[in-house]
Amino acid sequence: IEYDKEQGWHGAEVRPYGPLQLDPAAAVLHYGQEIFEGIKAYRHADGSIWTFRPEANGKRLQRSANRLAMPELPVELFVESLRQLVAVDHEWVSGVGENSLYFRPFMIANEAFLGVRAAQKAAYYVIASPAGPYFAKGVAPVSIWLSTDYARAAKGGTGAAKCGGNYAASLLPQQKAYAQGCSQVLFLDPVEGKYIEELGGMNVFLVYKNGTIVTPALSGSILEGITRESILQLARDRGLKVEERKISIDEWKQGVTSGEISEVFACGTAAVITPIGELKGEGFSVGDLNAPAGEVTMSLRKELTDIQYGRLPDRHNWLVKLR
Ligand code: PMP
Repeated sequence: IEYDKEQGWHGAEVRPYGPLQLDPAAAVLHYGQEIFEGIKAYRHADGSIWTFRPEANGKRLQRSANRLAMPELPVELFVESLRQLVAVDHEWVSGVGENSLYFRPFMIANEAFLGVRAAQKAAYYVIASPAGPYFAKGVAPVSIWLSTDYARAAKGGTGAAKCGGNYAASLLPQQKAYAQGCSQVLFLDPVEGKYIEELGGMNVFLVYKNGTIVTPALSGSILEGITRESILQLARDRGLKVEERKISIDEWKQGVTSGEISEVFACGTAAVITPIGELKGEGFSVGDLNAPAGEVTMSLRKELTDIQYGRLPDRHNWLVKLR
């Protein structure tokens, strides 16, 4: 779908996967004016195909568009774009295990000019790609690397938007994490470098032995994860005490060491919930990668995936039928 000031959003089409044509002076190539989303479709036992909270993704895309000085795509068009792809691609949505169809909606500024200003033209695309289970060999705890020398977001920056630039900033620390045998980076707040924010692509939760579940409050530089929000709701439904607040890195380290914190997990659309077994950084490591995943972590993961795959009632009306 294309956007310009005169016509608004227009020219929607579904076409086979293939290269895009871009003017070499397109704003996206020079100033990173690009935003995206990640969302999945799930096949239920009766063959129907559903997606999870698409309005939330559509609204987040609009917030990202505002921050990046791009046009807002109407939420109905966002949902319709997923529906249109499933209409031609439904055989790709496997109903087996944790298979799904992953959508990557994205918007780029494609006006061609070389001065620095917000572009007046944009294009919105959605890639649909079949996705296998995130954990092929069963859900297993991962190691996380604490980045103290890099940030992914700045005060007043684009941290709360889902834009390519945030991920560009996190690639080098991510490489460093891999080199240390870790699968993701943990970033601290960009002001004091003291409070935990999120991983490169997931939000973080701590589970206290007394049952309280804690996650960093939205700081303006954290992505408002839809999985995060859904887990907060499921935890509240269970009568668990839930806190969204500042969490210092020392609280994590000391809580895990003393045993007061019994589980740590990360969450996002791709993996749903990943248990975090170990936190490592320059000169320290806490947690035990070989300990089994925690009970709260695994039961929240099961409940959320059961809702997504239609095995449990959808009591919050989170699912939207695509076919
Ligand atoms: N934080 C970041 C930086 C992410 O890239 C993601 C994945 N979109 C998340 C958190 C989790 O968000 P969601 O639950 O909406 O997938």
